[in-house]
Amino acid sequence: MKNNKVTQPIYLDYMATTPLDPRVLQKMLPYLGSVSNGIFGNPSSNHYYGYHAKEGVEEARAKVATLINCDPKNIIWTSGATEANNLAIKGAAGFYNRQGKHLITCKTEHKSVLDPCKYLETCGFEVTYLTPETDGLINLNKLEQAFRQDTILVTIMQANNETGVIQDIAKIGELTRAKGILLHVDAVQSAGKIPIDLQKLKVDLMSFSGHKVYGPKGVGALYIRSQPKLHLIAQIHGGSQEHELRAGTLATHQLVGMGEAFHLASKEMTEESDRLLFLRNKLWHGIKNLGNIHLNGSITNRIANNLNLSFDDIEGELLLSALKDLAISHTSACIKGIEPSYVLKAMGISSKLALNALRISLGRFTTEKEIDTTIKHINHVVMTLRRS
Ligand code: PMP
Repeated sequence: MKNNKVTQPIYLDYMATTPLDPRVLQKMLPYLGSVSNGIFGNPSSNHYYGYHAKEGVEEARAKVATLINCDPKNIIWTSGATEANNLAIKGAAGFYNRQGKHLITCKTEHKSVLDPCKYLETCGFEVTYLTPETDGLINLNKLEQAFRQDTILVTIMQANNETGVIQDIAKIGELTRAKGILLHVDAVQSAGKIPIDLQKLKVDLMSFSGHKVYGPKGVGALYIRSQPKLHLIAQIHGGSQEHELRAGTLATHQLVGMGEAFHLASKEMTEESDRLLFLRNKLWHGIKNLGNIHLNGSITNRIANNLNLSFDDIEGELLLSALKDLAISHTSACIKGIEPSYVLKAMGISSKLALNALRISLGRFTTEKEIDTTIKHINHVVMTLRRS
């Protein structure tokens, strides 16, 4: 057991994961319960217990669909966004390879997009990795120039997990649809933070994760456009669940949790974003006068909860260990060890600044008092390190 008296660092790493919202936990608990509550069944079973579990699963599917304005039947459950990205990219490449073997992505994508692309290169596909501008945004002319006769898929994330930079998915969708190229979007870091309307966006595939939206880890979803029908080759075989696109017993409690998390986001997103923007800006104004400090990535096209900054004269590793009262990170939690962030390097930021980068991300449970303490702490630590 952890000693609760030990002061925990202030949690400012909401882009790595979010804690479960207690309201989500309450919704999940009965599904982990005993035989007496009648909802523990396998949602695929054709009896009372199965039907009751399935009700929870379908209610959750509808809640996810509501946040992004799509039909629930277009949502496929997965074990997380890593699996959703794999299913979208390898699944589309597997089905449409007779039409072409060229894909386009960006160097600043998450590893769960880049690695499936790299894998496809070993299977005879060609991938163009776009270099973003210095603010992290993709130049749409460069995207258009990369289109080829044999391009079958463009995969571009909506909000970056290190910088929070938001790409113009509406415009990208116009370009890909006009050419008949599929568009997959990793929306892990944008869902529940900015409005997503799949009736308007010309997106064919979109990936989501539960644990970035105050839901549980180990659950995600893939939106698959159905009109006209889009085909994917399943990546997991072994059962007829999820229209044979994703075999495996549905993890009812996880799905119910993700559904509730997305439902809360639908209700609270606008107010929450305003509050986080205020706190994020307060934090930035409270530290920027320290000087020799760079804000990495566009400040305007950016998710409200993110700051990514580098000090010219202080090593990232040293700073991170001195800021031990804060739980913040260097890059993505999916990257091992301290190395210059490939995301920042792709934006043309020097290796030194990329190595010195700190990602600070705020969330639902961040208080103004915590931000005030964080400002004081960073000022104190930076000034002390500079004197030593
Ligand atoms: N894409 C992005 C942008 C992410 O930030 C993450 C999580 N770090 C993932 C995909 C993978 O999501 P999951 O943890 O659900 O597999």
